[in-house]
Order: sequence, then structure tokens, then C-alpha cells
Amino acid sequence: MIRYIIICSIALLMAGLISCSKKSVFMVIDDRMMLDSLGLISDRLTDDDVCNQPEHYYPDSSDLTMNKSRTIRLIFHIMNSTDKKNNFSPEEAPDYFWTMLNNAHERLDQNRKMNLPEGNDTPVFPPNYRYKKVTVPEDDDSDGFLYHYDDELYYFLNRGRNRNNYRRDVINKYKVGNDSTLNIFVMPHHPDSTASETYKAFGSGIALGNSMKVAGIYENGEESWKYATLINHEIGHVLGLKHSWIRRDGCDDTPQHKNCYQSHGDPPCDGIASNNMMDYNNSQMAITPCQLGIIHRNFSKDGSLQRKILEKNWCKKDTSSVITIEEEMHWQGHRDVHHDIHIKKGGKLFLYCRLSLPEKGKITVDPGGELHLLGTRIHSDCGGSWQGIHISKGKQESGKVFYKGEVSIEDVKQVKAQD
Ligand SMILES: [Zn+2]
Repeated sequence: MIRYIIICSIALLMAGLISCSKKSVFMVIDDRMMLDSLGLISDRLTDDDVCNQPEHYYPDSSDLTMNKSRTIRLIFHIMNSTDKKNNFSPEEAPDYFWTMLNNAHERLDQNRKMNLPEGNDTPVFPPNYRYKKVTVPEDDDSDGFLYHYDDELYYFLNRGRNRNNYRRDVINKYKVGNDSTLNIFVMPHHPDSTASETYKAFGSGIALGNSMKVAGIYENGEESWKYATLINHEIGHVLGLKHSWIRRDGCDDTPQHKNCYQSHGDPPCDGIASNNMMDYNNSQMAITPCQLGIIHRNFSKDGSLQRKILEKNWCKKDTSSVITIEEEMHWQGHRDVHHDIHIKKGGKLFLYCRLSLPEKGKITVDPGGELHLLGTRIHSDCGGSWQGIHISKGKQESGKVFYKGEVSIEDVKQVKAQD
């Protein structure tokens, strides 16, 4: 017993970070210096591009690190002329767009199997993202809608000399939320254009950074659910997706095709039409694994505009379960975990990218367990702190931490010795 106390006392004096008790002995790695003194150098080879591959971000309902839904913060700007004749009124807009968003969610939830290529076995994953209307100080009603009456900037024109669909002036003037919100500008086509028989005031849209314009909704007088896929498609662009009928959209599971709205028997639209969300077709109900991988990669990439518009729902620790590692696991993408991580005897966890722990979260490595940090940055993303890597020591062996490359351990707040 005396010997035990002496050992503990010396250790505490040396590191100030070692906890001893009759039940457990552990050391805490709380920064890079501690890693250098307690960790082991790894000789494992890594791929520089590993954090960018969409396949490392597929949603997975059976994986506690990949089953969480991301929430996109958005606000609507209803653009109108000063005579208030060309768009929804404050009495009409909330119900109309609330119904549209609900329908857009239903369609995401029903993600369909791809029609193309014929005979494909492309799997279907849950999209795992949602929309949420938020309010800003400029929003007097706090209902997620702002109304602007501006004869210069209220309209959308995608043809002719005065076309303004790519122009950002309306965005620059009215955008709110400091990049933390997706700003959706609902604009009518210009009334002079819609009076022309040759101008088609279709529902259309354009994504510009983390803002987007949608047009043709009010003047067509259709029910709101008919524009749910337009919203999903345009938000798909904001989230980083390209049109899927083109060759270079970054995905092998979205084949190139003729982009037919539907099959009508005559070439080139005599075969099966696409049902992908990022084509122009009468379904737009399928999002492929690769497309979801791109979206979730962008959500996970520190500093990306897609990450900035997310609600930070990964900060508060979810204590309902612990991520338990009992075999060899490779996390080859950035992760925002909501739980503590416990690496048990025989478990090996390889981290290649960024990992965020929730407030007061921790990683425990049991004797016989291994944590491998390969160019990894571990932090707590929400301005708070986590509690570090706890290495348990048994009589025969202890947990091991290997590292290689530019590893950083940030935002750890030391906890008092436990008993
Ligand atoms: Zn598009």
C-alpha cells in the first residue's frame, strides 16, 4: 500500500495528469506535448486524399458516428414590387412555404432507388439532412420570413439583355445571418416578361454560394408541394452537387444520359428516364450514395460554406450510449461525434482526419486497446472543451496511442483526478 501511494505521488508530481486509485490507473493525453511523451510513433502509410473521398461519408443508420441528421438553417426573403402585386403577402407566405418544406422533407425521407443505369444495384441510404427555418434580428415576426419591396431588385429574369439570374445585387443588399444561414430569395419573373407569349415563367432557381434564388412560384399559382423538388434540387447545388446527367459530376453512380423529363416513346427519350434529384425529370426523388457522400463531406469539412449553415447539434454530449470499439475500425473522414468513445481490449481505432468531441466528451483506451492518430486533429468544435484521451493501465499492459504526421489535440480541459 505504501509503495502504491509513493508511486502515485511521484507520478502526480511529474505529470500532474496521472490519476491513481484502487480501481483504476490512467494517464490523460491533453495536448501534443503529452502525446509526444506518452504516444508511440506509427509506421503506417496514409493516403493524402483520404478525407476528401465521398465514400467515407455515406450515412449509415447502424453507425453512431454516421447516423446523425444534419440541420440546415434557412430563411426566406419574399421579394416584391412596391405596389405589392407580384409576390406572396405576409399572410400567405408562411403557410405556403411551410407546406413546401414539409413536402420537401417527405421526399428526402422517401429517397428512391435509382432508375439508371438500367438493372443497377445502387444502394439507397437515408439522406440524413433536414431544413429548419430560423429567425434573425431583422425578422420582426420571428417566423423565418423577410419581406422586401424593391422595384429595382424584386424580379428574376433569365433571358435577354437585362437578365439578372446570376447577379448577386439582391443577395448583397438583403442577405442576413453572416453566412450561418441559407438565404432563399423568392422572386417573381418580371411581369413584362411573363406578359410575353414566348417567355416561359417556369419554376426555376439558381444557387449562388450559400444563397439561392427561386422564381416562377407565385405567378404560376400552383400548389406549394409542386415546388418541393425545386427546393431540394437547388439546395442540392448549395450543398455541392452538380447536375447528374453531365459526365463530370464527381460520381460513378450517376450515369450520363439525355436528361429527359420523362419517357414518351420517341428518341432520345424512349427509354427509362432518370429519377435523380439533380436531373430535370418528373420525379427528382433519388439521391445516390456518392451524392450523399459529397453532401456529408462538405458538411464535415471545417470552414466550408455548407458547414457554416448547419445548426451545431453535435456540441452537447449524448450520454444515452457510448461508441464502443471492440475490433479494428477505420474512420477515414472527418467526424463530429456526439458520444464518448471507449476503445476496449482488442479494439483498434484508426483516425485519419478531423474529429470533434462534444462538450466534456472523452476517449478512453483500455489495456489492450489501441488508438492510431494519422494526421488527425482532435478538438471540440463548439468553443467549449473535451476531456482528453484517457489511457487505462492494467497490471500487465496499458492502452496504446500511436501517432504520425501533423497530429493536434486541442480544446482539452483537464479533469480532476477521479476515484
Ligand atoms: Zn440545377
